[in-house]
Amino acid sequence: MAQPQLMEKIVGLCKRRGFIFQSSEIYGGLNGAWDYGPLGADLKKNIKDFWWKSMTQYRDDIVGMDGSILMNRNVWKASGHEATFSDPMVDCKTCKGRFRADQLTSTPCPQKPSKMVNTCGGELTEPRSFNLMFKTYVGPVEDDHNITYLRPETAQAIFVQFKNILEVSRKKLPFGIAQMGKAFRNEINPRNFIFRSREFEQMEVEFFVKPETGKEWLEQWLKDRLAWYELIGIPRSKIHVLDVPQEDRAFYSGGTYDLEYEFPFGIQELEGIAYRTDYDLTQHQNASGKPLEYFDEETKTKYLPHVVEPSAGVDRTCLAVLCEAYAEETIKDEETGKEETRIVMRFVPKLAPIKVGIFPLLKNKPELVEKAKALAATLRKTMTVFYDESGAIGRRYRRMDEVGTPFGVTIDFETLEGIREGENAGLKETVTLRHRDSMKQERIAIADLPAYLLKQIEG
Ligand code: ATP
Repeated sequence: MAQPQLMEKIVGLCKRRGFIFQSSEIYGGLNGAWDYGPLGADLKKNIKDFWWKSMTQYRDDIVGMDGSILMNRNVWKASGHEATFSDPMVDCKTCKGRFRADQLTSTPCPQKPSKMVNTCGGELTEPRSFNLMFKTYVGPVEDDHNITYLRPETAQAIFVQFKNILEVSRKKLPFGIAQMGKAFRNEINPRNFIFRSREFEQMEVEFFVKPETGKEWLEQWLKDRLAWYELIGIPRSKIHVLDVPQEDRAFYSGGTYDLEYEFPFGIQELEGIAYRTDYDLTQHQNASGKPLEYFDEETKTKYLPHVVEPSAGVDRTCLAVLCEAYAEETIKDEETGKEETRIVMRFVPKLAPIKVGIFPLLKNKPELVEKAKALAATLRKTMTVFYDESGAIGRRYRRMDEVGTPFGVTIDFETLEGIREGENAGLKETVTLRHRDSMKQERIAIADLPAYLLKQIEG
């Protein structure tokens, strides 16, 4: 399938099935802002939950924090964001389009939206710096003393709380602090659906290490993060690792890897893993006048730790997961045998917004409906369930395939029989369990179902 067409289909499905809508849609939208609908909110939450667990629960060298979005303006002065967090911007004198000067080849011209910048033939202005931070005022008076910014990244709260967290967690180097949450950037050209927006979420770790081990930890984090993406269904083969050359990195950087995914619109950054040396802690120590050093009990010396920062975008991860999951297949309808196209989202079970669909075979048979509702109520205690009694069973399966529900359970007359003859004789109250990807069906005892499903979901 042509890649632009694929992207259109994914965006269409996201709207049709309630994953993602344009923000403020009934007022014509707001460029660079998106709302996650019922299924999208669950998908995003499942990604964040898995990241959070992977960082703070499955390992014992990272603790979490949840910092404020508004911070003292001096944070942004010390971090360098106020002076330098900007992109070069140019204007087209003909179409009046405003573009990021370093992304001209991939930004459409407003006069000829299917073509790239400058196809209208207009003259471009000289690039000038545009600061990406959203400025706001704290309190009722709008003067210079009250200026602050919506945070453009979550990382700075971690640096400025480093000392407090070190003390309360009693961690020794190497250890990390994880945080996820909203960040805001007044992007010049938000585009590619949720890939580049003005309000988005990040998942960041600042991992503090002994200075001489910085490079080793950069390599270790590269391995860990590539393995993590495989666990959420993004294969290693679809991620390109860019070893960012020195001339493209900040002067203090000890190395950066960009993890780039093959999106339908091109190979683009999903996550950056940066070895930031001791730059941030040095800046905040100097600007605040508060010591941020670490006392190393082994060597009895004090120093500023070095930092490796894996920084991922929640929305970009969500988009990569959606793109990777999307599949179209020609199949035979399970009931009628007719050929048709099936759209299936192949989410790994732990990310799927709905884990199981419950279907009584016929809705006018109270015994089936009752049994199905009771089973749905039992499963709801531990997983998300969608109960559906309307339409042919094949259609009900298809609706669940399209939103990536990995399991479907049908309650039929055999369920009521309780004990079956033949190979499964002796099993009481069985149901048909249908697997989304293979479409294979098997019979399973209701009593075994919750544990079986949970095992599959947890992987
Ligand atoms: P880009 O070069 O694409 O603008 P960046 O290098 O400025 O990204 P970082 O500052 O390293 O991005 O931010 C870390 C992560 O935050 C990115 O890898 C990305 O996943 C996410 N991110 C950054 N900007 C945006 C945005 N405007 N919309 C959505 N996600 C973003």
